[in-house]
Amino acid sequence: MSSRPLTLARQLARPELLQLEPYQSARRIGGQGDIWINANESPFNRASLPRLNRYPECQPPALIAAYGRYVGVADNQIVCSRGADEAIELLIRTFCIPGRDSIAQFGPTYGMYGISARTFNVGVVSLALNADYSLPQDFSAVAGCKLVFICNPNNPTGTLVSPRVIEQALQDLPEQLVVVDEAYIEFSPAYSVVSLLDKYPNLVILRTLSKAFALAGARCGFMLASEDVVSMVMRVIAPYPVPLPVSELAEAALSEAGLQAMQADVTLLNTQGVRLSQALQQLGAEVLPSGGNFILAFFDDIQAVSQGLKDAGIVARAYKDPRLVDAIRFSFSNELETGLVIEALERILN
Ligand SMILES: *Cc1c(COP(=O)(O)O)cnc(C)c1O
Repeated sequence: MSSRPLTLARQLARPELLQLEPYQSARRIGGQGDIWINANESPFNRASLPRLNRYPECQPPALIAAYGRYVGVADNQIVCSRGADEAIELLIRTFCIPGRDSIAQFGPTYGMYGISARTFNVGVVSLALNADYSLPQDFSAVAGCKLVFICNPNNPTGTLVSPRVIEQALQDLPEQLVVVDEAYIEFSPAYSVVSLLDKYPNLVILRTLSKAFALAGARCGFMLASEDVVSMVMRVIAPYPVPLPVSELAEAALSEAGLQAMQADVTLLNTQGVRLSQALQQLGAEVLPSGGNFILAFFDDIQAVSQGLKDAGIVARAYKDPRLVDAIRFSFSNELETGLVIEALERILN
């Protein structure tokens, strides 16, 4: 056996994974030649997309390179997954021993950290965000949790955590993985902690093409982490997690033109968000400042607002969390729909 020193990732990983040899898919083994009869694929391509009869690469190199260029991160620090949701699940499966380990989260926050953990019988330590929904800065309560999730901007509150506070968490929790979920970071790019990746082996960042990149239907997310974390996660990931059509769509979204379109969308959505936020405040709702493509608004008569929106055919998000029973989250939309939502709210609240 190798006497490799235990990196943080190997120390934290489920011990059985250190022995596990990952499935040697035909694509991983590779080979050279003109006749490919090693993977029981069909020789007939009936689809309009070239090579769809063939298994895709586990991590399509062109896609990883494109995302690496976009974020300024080395290829071996990137994992592409079926959405950020799969990345959450992969982290839990890679690092948490069922029935023994726990993850930590600061709520109210994104539901999938807790749900994913529970599906693997992994504990969930739920700590409360401060009264103003900022992140508590005493991290002693999460000691012992293998993964500490920080959502930034936080869904559903929209609140932002400054990179300085995240760096403090990384320093206070050197033996744990701090997972910063940046699903909405394109709407607040100055808050990204990507630049801290090389400095902190305990930092993991989650990204997605589902929000600003307008590809929720494609299911494409990314994990950015140290090479060691990436290599442990690669032992757990499915052999072919990135369908060929998905990588093609994702590469186009990450091209020069794709990035420009994304930026234009972000600008437009932020403008409509300001418009919606101002209208809500004028109508007496309390609105949290948001760094994402949504706002959380609190109403005096939540029943009336919920019913009114429903009657108007507007589907927004309500919450069961005791702190959010009076709140509704509104995703930003285009100019036309924003106008219709504001009109409906005026009818309901005036
Ligand atoms: C939407 C969302 C995700 C999931 O993203 P997918 O890539 O679509 O799986 C992850 N985290 C947060 C905070 C989200 O809001």
